Amino acid sequence: MIITIDGPAGSGKSTVARKLAARLEVAYLDTGAMYRAVAYAGLLRQTDLSSEAACGALVRALRIELDFGPTYARIRVDGHDVSEAIRTIRVSAATSEVARHPAVRTFLVKMQRSEGDRLKSFVTEGRDQGSVVFPNADVKFVLNASAEKRAERRLQQLLVDGEDVTLEQVRENITQRDSIDAIQWQSLLEPGAAHIIDTTTMSISEVLDRLMEHV
Ligand code: C5P
Repeated sequence: MIITIDGPAGSGKSTVARKLAARLEVAYLDTGAMYRAVAYAGLLRQTDLSSEAACGALVRALRIELDFGPTYARIRVDGHDVSEAIRTIRVSAATSEVARHPAVRTFLVKMQRSEGDRLKSFVTEGRDQGSVVFPNADVKFVLNASAEKRAERRLQQLLVDGEDVTLEQVRENITQRDSIDAIQWQSLLEPGAAHIIDTTTMSISEVLDRLMEHV
């Protein structure tokens, strides 16, 4: 069974995708981590992130290793575990830039499909999972929430991770990412294309229950 969860930053996707995968005892595919890993490596190597050619060459040169299970998602680049290092606000901003390039997307989409073939049953989370990568998925969700609520959630996460950021910075980061990312799941907003859930006033367990009902 393939379950896709798409939506913007702070919509609650990652948290519920993990919990849903654990509940169903299937793997959880964190596709955002793959884009983040490329951006992280690009920042380290001082790649010109605005250049499609440079980012395409970068993604092809990296050795990206995925280890996705029901309760964990680890990612290594050239032998280094970057699972935590890719979560900073600096990497988030760079990621949307890198993820814009078709050369990067084509490469990572191929990798996601081959990981999907290997895993067979999984919950996958991203921006284009139900629309582009796994259009034949069994159940598709789009999660959303108000921009203010999403910024608050991201701020909490970043503070827990020890980052020194303000709500204003997070709000700006989210707004910028939204304008670049939203195009990827537009087709899922067509009637009947996916279950659309607004999580603004819902708790994690309420969202999870709702997802389980559909599954
Ligand atoms: O979900 P997460 O916040 O980790 O994603 C980081 C960024 O990666 C997004 O803002 C988006 O630019 C990009 N992304 C994407 N397609 C995906 C997953 C993530 O473009 N399937």
